[in-house]
Amino acid sequence: MQRITILGATGSIGVSTLDVLARHPDRYSVYALSAHSRVDELAAQCEQFKPARAVVGTAAAAAQLQALLRAKGLRTEVEYGEQALCAIASAAETDTVMAAIVGAAGLAPTLAAARAGKKVLLANKEALVMSGQLFMDAVHDSGAVLLPIDSEHNAIFQCLPQHYSRVPGASGVTRILLTASGGPFLKRAVDTLDSVTPDEACKHPKWSMGRKISVDSATMMNKGLEVIEAHWLFGTTAEQIEVVIHPQSVVHSMVSYNDGSVLAELGNPDMRTPIAHALAYPERIASGVAQLDLAQVGTLQFERPDFVQFPCLALAFKALKAGGTAPALLNAANEVAVAAFLDSRIGFRQIDRVIAQVMQELPHGAAASIAAVMEQDGLARAAAQRIIGNITSGLRPQ
Ligand code: NAD
Ligand code: MG
Repeated sequence: MQRITILGATGSIGVSTLDVLARHPDRYSVYALSAHSRVDELAAQCEQFKPARAVVGTAAAAAQLQALLRAKGLRTEVEYGEQALCAIASAAETDTVMAAIVGAAGLAPTLAAARAGKKVLLANKEALVMSGQLFMDAVHDSGAVLLPIDSEHNAIFQCLPQHYSRVPGASGVTRILLTASGGPFLKRAVDTLDSVTPDEACKHPKWSMGRKISVDSATMMNKGLEVIEAHWLFGTTAEQIEVVIHPQSVVHSMVSYNDGSVLAELGNPDMRTPIAHALAYPERIASGVAQLDLAQVGTLQFERPDFVQFPCLALAFKALKAGGTAPALLNAANEVAVAAFLDSRIGFRQIDRVIAQVMQELPHGAAASIAAVMEQDGLARAAAQRIIGNITSGLRPQ
């Protein structure tokens, strides 16, 4: 019986994970669940899955959850805050941690799971983008098993040799082909994007996801973060990672070898496939996802991305090449800009401008420690807030 902790259980990935777990009660039990503020949903999950522990964001949310659980006669221990998240991620009673908190808030607990040598199922790409080498070192030093949940990286993992060493050349790997749907604005003229609303940006043509990653998909910053994620997971340089637009989202990514072979993983766009793959790895279990009907799909299209239409993709490549804390600056500025867009404080096309200005203003340094990374993260957030303040008060970014 594998005992699972889900960080971010009420989110899109968390709910899909519980859906897969519920299909295999003989293999998996839930040790702990976390949510930030959706207390009612978490209470319902606790009733169904009976975890030993549940963690929320604040004391008030904890009191509310505690009352709901006691009323149902449940004895789940309720805690709150970052230390409690780290505790459920590293507890001796859990084997596997699904890291599905969105954004930098997921870094500390995901790192705690890696340091404790857990099987880490990584959905929270922002954690790896921020802390890259430090995170991979923690995995290496503790003997943790790191399995990618992001559909592209899970596909690449499946297309690489089983004992891949993170040295592409040693396995004949020449390139990784990272597919991208292009999001809801792929065919829109750039100058019509000024007026798009948060709801339009979140209406992804193929995937159903949380709001932050949905906006990231619309700007293609999501693909940019995934390029950096791929670099750390697979040891490929920026030059060895090629982004390919593939609107059908059926080919989830590919690996190109020196003999001319290109291996791909295909499937319906449903996150339960990579979740089930990583949960059971190296075995296979049913995920609830319908079998792919290629004749019904009919056509698979591929095209090169337009870096002018999607400046966030260019910014991410630039941050990867710069190295050090540059990806952490990029990520923090993006989180603040996306939140401002979702609050209707800035327009869609100002997201990339805020990020570019933060990157231009702040010199990046060495990512020598988590403290150094968090300091840069804080500086980038403050700079982004200031730039957004200037925009909303009518001053244009320089
Ligand atoms: P979501 O917004 O649906 O859910 C986020 C979860 O994190 C929720 O449970 C929420 O309670 C929790 N959370 C939010 N802020 C928090 C905070 N400050 N402290 C603690 N917990 C907090 O997001 P999602 O779409 O499920 O994405 C989760 C992660 O997985 C992201 O990093 C995303 O990039 C990645 N991912 C998602 C998908 C997808 O299909 N949804 C695909 C690939 C990767
Ligand atoms: Mg992805």
